[in-house]
Amino acid sequence: MAGSSHRLDAVIIGGGFAGAATAWWLKHHGVERIKVLEQEDMPGIHASGRNAGIARQGVPEPPTSLLAALGTSFLRHPPPGFCPTPLLEPTGGFLLSTVANDPRLDEIQRNAMAAGVHTYPASRSEVLDKVPSLMESPFRSALACPHDGLVDIHALLTSYLAPLEVETSAQVTGFHVDKRKITAVETSKGPLHADWVVNAAGAWAGEVARLADASPLAITPRRRHLLHTGPLDGAGTPAPYVWCLHPAVYFRTESRGLLLSPCDEATWKPGLPPADPEAPAWLSERLSTTFPHLANLPIARMWAGLRSFSDDGNFVIGRDPKVSNFLWVAGLGGHGMTTSAAVGELAAALLLGRVPPLDPAPYSPARFK
Ligand SMILES: Cc1cc2nc3c(=O)[nH]c(=O)nc-3n(C[C@H](O)[C@H](O)[C@H](O)COP(=O)(O)OP(=O)(O)OC[C@H]3O[C@@H](n4cnc5c(N)ncnc54)[C@H](O)[C@@H]3O)c2cc1C
Repeated sequence: MAGSSHRLDAVIIGGGFAGAATAWWLKHHGVERIKVLEQEDMPGIHASGRNAGIARQGVPEPPTSLLAALGTSFLRHPPPGFCPTPLLEPTGGFLLSTVANDPRLDEIQRNAMAAGVHTYPASRSEVLDKVPSLMESPFRSALACPHDGLVDIHALLTSYLAPLEVETSAQVTGFHVDKRKITAVETSKGPLHADWVVNAAGAWAGEVARLADASPLAITPRRRHLLHTGPLDGAGTPAPYVWCLHPAVYFRTESRGLLLSPCDEATWKPGLPPADPEAPAWLSERLSTTFPHLANLPIARMWAGLRSFSDDGNFVIGRDPKVSNFLWVAGLGGHGMTTSAAVGELAAALLLGRVPPLDPAPYSPARFK
């Protein structure tokens, strides 16, 4: 029961990748009394269970690139006993642009290189060799990302949570704060007392911080759609994902068909966003410019989820400047699954005062002061 009176080492608010990975690392470092609180009746209802499962290491933001490299290395070689099945299908991927010699691809390549990840400009014939269906696509530049892949997101989330105490249908509703320290956490199942409170509340992270009278950082949720074709002839085997940056649209193989996104990003309120009936039309419009051969595919089902962003687009991981025992793990945008193991490792290190796996400064909540 959330209302039990014994003191905890840490309360983790949110059972998505941010909370699950942080709690897993805390446990890994020997912290025993941890409780993960999830307001829904099961974890993974929100972004962490509704994402595209693409481990993409080449990204425009250098700090995210570093976390993506570290996170993907964990996905490729998880610790013994972490998960009985492989987490990452090493398909590789291609980032494309309809602009010749697109400088955005050069920048991504530089970021990946700085993070120790090999990518390289690919010729049109190499791309077509690996993804023949792109024959009609007018793309003009390509970056090959051979060390990326597709992830079993349910196996990943379940594996983080397996050794942990997770309380579902337990919503954090308020805090008692005394002398800039949280002394009690109010939940829908009663109060809890813990040395540390971790804000891993995804789209709700800004609201949770306000309840704790912590730094008023903006975390903005943005809705994004995914659409699945149902089974298609010739789409049975996993292939490299293809992500066009300009105009933005992507697809990957999934369940004997294709999973596609029109890369929409309307701001949205925290919650479960409805899928817009217009989403297939948005997708078709994007595809008609970039991947015309895919523009008229059947759509069997679709859904939407929220990606949550800080004001500068970088993640927010670290101790709150105002409330001393409140740790942020939020704003993971569109890369929170890929980076999760690194995010959790960094967050746990900062909470425990251990040597962090990488320089924490770019992620610090104090940078918004
Ligand atoms: C359509 C889409 C595609 C994506 N594709 C990819 C991809 O290919 N690769 C990739 O790496 N990332 C991808 N992402 C991003 C990734 O899914 C997110 O970055 C990641 O899941 C965020 O995890 P989180 O734990 O911060 O948030 P969430 O998964 O939203 O978890 C937060 C949890 O906190 C709970 N919570 C909130 N408030 C409270 C409260 N007061 N009390 C108790 N519990 C509370 C919520 O119920 C929720 O379960 C995608 C996202 C979307 C939406």
